[in-house]
Amino acid sequence: MGERVGFTTSVPVEVLFAAGLVPCDLNNLFITDAYPQRQVERAETDGFPKNLCNWIKGIYGVVLSQGVNTVVCVMEGDCSNTRALAEILTYKGVRVVPFSYPYDRDRAGLEREIEKFRGAFGAGRGDIQEVEKVLERVRRNLAEIDRLTWEDGLVSGRENNAWLLSASDMEGDCRQYEARSSEFLSEVGKREKQVGIRIGYVGVPPITTDLYDFLENLGCQVVYNEVQRQFSLPYFSCGMIDRYLQYTYPYGIFPRIEDIKTEIARRRIEGIVHYVQAFCYRVVEDVILREMLEVPVLTIEGDLPRALDGRTKLRLEAFVEMLKGR
Ligand code: SF4
Repeated sequence: MGERVGFTTSVPVEVLFAAGLVPCDLNNLFITDAYPQRQVERAETDGFPKNLCNWIKGIYGVVLSQGVNTVVCVMEGDCSNTRALAEILTYKGVRVVPFSYPYDRDRAGLEREIEKFRGAFGAGRGDIQEVEKVLERVRRNLAEIDRLTWEDGLVSGRENNAWLLSASDMEGDCRQYEARSSEFLSEVGKREKQVGIRIGYVGVPPITTDLYDFLENLGCQVVYNEVQRQFSLPYFSCGMIDRYLQYTYPYGIFPRIEDIKTEIARRRIEGIVHYVQAFCYRVVEDVILREMLEVPVLTIEGDLPRALDGRTKLRLEAFVEMLKGR
C-alpha cells in the first residue's frame, strides 16, 4: 500500500491514484474520527482561535494526530484560511504541496496546475489514463446512486450525502470503492420508494451529525446535495481537464448558482436548506444565493461536530410547515 496523502478539498485524485498513493480527504478523516471534537480541542490547545472555522481546526488536528506526512493544500478555489493552514503545517514538519484552481476558470491555467501536480507526485501520463477508466466507472455508479435518490426515491438523502462526499478520495481505494458502490446499487433496487417534501441541500457539507435524519422525520426527502454531487464529478465523455473545468465548486458562487437552478428544476425541489459554517467567509455568498433562487431558502449555521441545536430544529420545523402549507 502506498503512502497516504491528505488534501484539504477535492483535487484531481486521478494523479494520486496513478502515482500509487492513497488519497485521503482530510475533511472526511476529521468527521469520521471516533471523537472529532478532540481534534478541534487539539488545535485550540496549540493556539488556534475560538473564532475560526472548526473544519480548519479539525483538519489540523487529524493531520498531526494521525501522522499524515504529506498534505495537498488547495490555495485557490476553496478556503480563505488554507494559506495560513499550509504555513503552520509546514512549520510542524509536514510536506505541503500547493494546488490551485484558477478563479477565472482558465483552461491553460488549470492545465499548468495539473501538470505541476502530476510532476510533484511523479505520476505517469499512461498510468493516469488507466486510472481514469476505473474512476469513470465509479463516477457512473455514483451518478446512478444520485439518480435513484431524486428520481426513484430509493436512496435516502443521508446515504446520498455519504456516497457523494466520499467520492473525493474514494476511501483511498478506487477499486474497492467501485465494488462497494456496485453492491449498494444491486441492493437498493429491492427497496420501497420514499416520498416527502422535496428538499435541496446547498453549501459546504454539514458538520452537524443528524440533519438528514431530522429532515426525514419531518416528512422530507433530501433529493439534492449540491457540493457533495460536485465532488462526485458527474461529467462524462471528456478528459481530465474538461472534467475539472465543469466542476463548479472552486470557481465562485455564480457557476454554482447556475448548477443549483438547473437541479432545482430537474429534481422538482420545493425548498432549499443552505448550510453555512460558523466563521466561514462563504456566509457572504448567502446574500446572493437567496436573491437569485426562486424557491424558499432557509439558511442554517453549524459550528461543532455534534447534533443540531434546539433553535435550528425549531427553524427547520417552521420551514417545513411553511412548505407543506404551500
Ligand atoms: S467551511 Fe468555510 S472556512 Fe471552513 S474550511 Fe470550508 S471554506 Fe474554509
